[in-house]
Amino acid sequence: MAEKTSTQQFEYKAEMQQLLHLIVNSLYTNQEIFLRELISNASDALNKARLQRLTDHSGDDHTDLQISIQLDESANTLSIEDTGIGMTREDLIDRLGTIASSGTLAFIKEQKASGKPVDAGMIGQFGVGFYSAFMVADQIVLDTLHSGEGAEPLTWTSEGTGSYEISPGTRTDPGTRITLHLKEDAKEFADEARVRSIIRKYSNFVDFPINLGSDQVNTLKALWKKRKDDISEDERNEFYKFITGDYTDPFGHLHLQIEGLLSFEALLFIPSQAPASLFREDHRTDLHLYSSGVFVRDDAEDLLPDYLHFVRGVVDTDDLPLNVSREVTQNSPVAKRIRSTLTNKLLGLLKEWASEDPERYEKFFLNFGSALKTGLWSDMSRRDDLLELMRYPSTDDKQLTSLQDYVERMPDDQQTIYYLLADSLESARKSPHLEVFARKGIEVLLLPDPIDALTLPNVPKFKEKSFTSVTGADLDLGDMPESESLPGDDVDTLLSLFRIRLGDQVQDVTSSKRLVDSAATLVAAKDGIDPQLERMMKSMNPEFEGAKKVLELNIEHPLMKNILALKSSSEDQDFLIEETIDQVYEGALLLDGNLTEPSAFVSRMTRILVDATRTP
Ligand code: ADP
Ligand code: MG
Repeated sequence: MAEKTSTQQFEYKAEMQQLLHLIVNSLYTNQEIFLRELISNASDALNKARLQRLTDHSGDDHTDLQISIQLDESANTLSIEDTGIGMTREDLIDRLGTIASSGTLAFIKEQKASGKPVDAGMIGQFGVGFYSAFMVADQIVLDTLHSGEGAEPLTWTSEGTGSYEISPGTRTDPGTRITLHLKEDAKEFADEARVRSIIRKYSNFVDFPINLGSDQVNTLKALWKKRKDDISEDERNEFYKFITGDYTDPFGHLHLQIEGLLSFEALLFIPSQAPASLFREDHRTDLHLYSSGVFVRDDAEDLLPDYLHFVRGVVDTDDLPLNVSREVTQNSPVAKRIRSTLTNKLLGLLKEWASEDPERYEKFFLNFGSALKTGLWSDMSRRDDLLELMRYPSTDDKQLTSLQDYVERMPDDQQTIYYLLADSLESARKSPHLEVFARKGIEVLLLPDPIDALTLPNVPKFKEKSFTSVTGADLDLGDMPESESLPGDDVDTLLSLFRIRLGDQVQDVTSSKRLVDSAATLVAAKDGIDPQLERMMKSMNPEFEGAKKVLELNIEHPLMKNILALKSSSEDQDFLIEETIDQVYEGALLLDGNLTEPSAFVSRMTRILVDATRTP
């Protein structure tokens, strides 16, 4: 085939060109990180080669697996060579020539549009590491030979602008050599002392030799196997950045060296920021699995429960065979035991933070609390531990409260924990449902996180205390002050006026025990579903028909007295009464975010205002 023996030119996709432009022009703050990216790719390729040799028994001498860096100050080049797995033509086109994550460009654009700085942190987060080399190079030549049988040697060349070329290569041994032709302002990267210090800083723990000139620069010991006391914080942070591509130090870490029936080492990190992808389908858990020091894969999500998938790091065990498939690992008793130990230890660490430094814990929770909450439905066996770790806003002034603190503040006769599900904290704080609680001095948890609607209503108890939604129809706050104004007959008249007018739009109309200033509110019928949850269901499925609500009237409100007075006056005011009732009902719908026809609402309001402002 002619095309395989001659040079082929490829255009980058439009979005890729934009991304390259951004990398070259906006990410110049921390140029030296390009070397970490290239070493990290070389180390990945060597890991794959080592794993392949071990699984197909083609040899267990790995001394040839290494990285060499050559500098040429007069030619102004830096090249990095690895004896790893190499790349096929498909790899060059599909993996090197395309952005790994489709969200990358959209995210960077958004960031720029909103005036936020676009910095190096984004490159790694989205896996466009290789292209960071165009920060320092105006031409890159890559020579590669894949280790598979019959693979062809290939040369890939690009100037990082519109296109790249693939032509026949000359390599005879599997691996990849990448030569950077350095830009004028990046000459420092051909200087040996400078490059040596960058390697020491970012890649000291890489477990293949990194040779510069005739010396090996790194110390070659898997960091997680070192004694905890022998690891400096800097070293640990650099390790985290190396394996995750994150450019910010981690928020915290957990280093485990477990020996016994089950033995494994784990070095786990909690990032400082939740990645944008955390709740998306395409979120990859960045957990690297090693078997006796040999890398197996970098997305071992089966070793952590879903609600801890934001944790990143390394797990190394002697108890899992190398060549076992993902499905088998997932269900193996060893994986289950590792998962269970990691979960317990991580929850233990979080509890420790929560008790020793609540402010720091709150920061953590603001980032990852929503993820943790999903454990309330997925991990029954640890529900009590998870409940202890929850933090919620509440009507008390404090920013976030634990359930424990809420319960301790409860008056002796309060039987249950009250909560209000809402769209936002702001709308929660203004809800008419809180009026009676404010008057009685009862604290209510305010739950604006959509995940709360799916979790808390299904939790039966915390420390013997049940949970009650303040929007439920069966709210019972004990003795309420007697109505001063309306005798029972009048209440009945009022309720039936509303019932007749509203017909089957509502399940029922009752007098309220929860309102102080508002005239009316809608509540869920007994056994009905919470209005907030219902709104969520509707937004997910427009066909969803909610359950009918109960309209509760504040019978002490002056409006109710006025309606009764109108009814018993001699003039025929039925039309105004009907309009008023409709308006009260739709006003309650509006407050719940469920009013579908605002125009009818406004025209009716205008008619009523015309009546009210008419000079007698
Ligand atoms: P990432 O490492 O996050 O996948 P990169 O942009 O750093 O993203 O690399 C893109 C892809 O190019 C890698 O996933 C790998 O398939 C391939 N690649 C890059 N460098 C090498 C190398 N030295 N040897 C083999 N494959 C490589
Ligand atoms: Mg990479």
